[in-house]
Amino acid sequence: IEGEDEENAASKIYDLLHGAFEEKKPVEILKIAFFGTKDYDRLFFSELVKDKGEGTYNSDIKYFNARLTPETASLAKGFDAVCIFVNDECPREVVETLHECGVRLILLRCAGFNNVDLQAAKECGITVLRVPAYSPYAVAEHAMAILQEANRRLHKAHNKVKDNNFALSGLLGLDLHNKVAGIMGTGRIGVCMANICKGYGMTVLGWDAYPNKALEESGLLTYVTKEELLQKSDLISLHAPLFPSTYHLIDKDAIALMKDTVMLVNTSRGGLVDAEALIEALKQGKFHAVALDVYEGEDNNVYTDRSDEAITNDITGRLLMFPQVVLTSHQAFFTREALQAIAVVTMENARNFNEGNDYGNAEVAAK
Ligand code: NAD
Repeated sequence: IEGEDEENAASKIYDLLHGAFEEKKPVEILKIAFFGTKDYDRLFFSELVKDKGEGTYNSDIKYFNARLTPETASLAKGFDAVCIFVNDECPREVVETLHECGVRLILLRCAGFNNVDLQAAKECGITVLRVPAYSPYAVAEHAMAILQEANRRLHKAHNKVKDNNFALSGLLGLDLHNKVAGIMGTGRIGVCMANICKGYGMTVLGWDAYPNKALEESGLLTYVTKEELLQKSDLISLHAPLFPSTYHLIDKDAIALMKDTVMLVNTSRGGLVDAEALIEALKQGKFHAVALDVYEGEDNNVYTDRSDEAITNDITGRLLMFPQVVLTSHQAFFTREALQAIAVVTMENARNFNEGNDYGNAEVAAK
């Protein structure tokens, strides 16, 4: 090799020979059926593969617009994995169909896993991996944003001003400063919300099935019983996962313990709040503000454009009639940073499964 000293030339020759004779290992491509695809999903997943280089994840993604439901599950025939989101349906019936289709892996591109029958997955030998944390900030920031929207009636103010109405009637809000915030579920998102509330000058109470002593020691919050939190809080923010034990955590009895002027925000899962009990209490004048990113019965609405249709969901229709209620469509996660992180962790989960690596805390298994 001209112009190289002996050592460099030897190393270059070795590289050339090694490259020429290196045996190409067979590449196993993990075939992934991606359900409920939205344009932003496709954008972030294909951007990631492009950035990291083709072949990095040894996966081939086929994007389906349809949600995963009993009717669409057979689309997964011939795929190794399905990639699903919060509004996909994965009860036993679907898990069994996926198993018959040859699926060995369910990739949840979200944190919650209440929509998957884990016991059925275990029986079928299907691994279930999720994205345990992508941006807890995205969710907590949205929780405070919609809570303040409802508290300060910003949704009404916006429409009024657009209608050339600059009067302030109907827009009276409450200070958060010096008030009490109750955080139900003090995990990743709950802690972010506690910090945000602290920033507003609030006293923070926490309730959790597994209290985290370090949070108390740091002075962020004080753990109390569920009853005490419900009675003392001016703002209640829900961040516990949806389990049978947390289903209707906020029911008629829980609402009865709350202050009349309480503000409630739910960015966790709809099933945590008994929507009928909530509507009944709202009718009776309870709640200064209610902000729901998630609510019972959202499944048929969420991520679909029905602007040409009448509202047929009675829960949504009724909730929208209250001036102090703000609804968003399960969008708390929806930031650029969160979507990037979701794509990275999901594809790393796929690769770890394929290569037999450790899943860290991504695996969710039936207990
Ligand atoms: P996390 O696992 O970090 O925290 C959950 C907390 O709930 C933990 O402290 C845990 O000890 C506690 N907990 C568990 N079981 C409980 C029970 N039976 N009773 C009371 N507390 C219990 O989870 P996270 O990342 O903070 O997420 C919380 C929830 O937020 C998720 O389960 C998910 O449903 C929801 N989420 C919603 C969105 C959205 O876009 N709206 C996005 C991400 C997550």
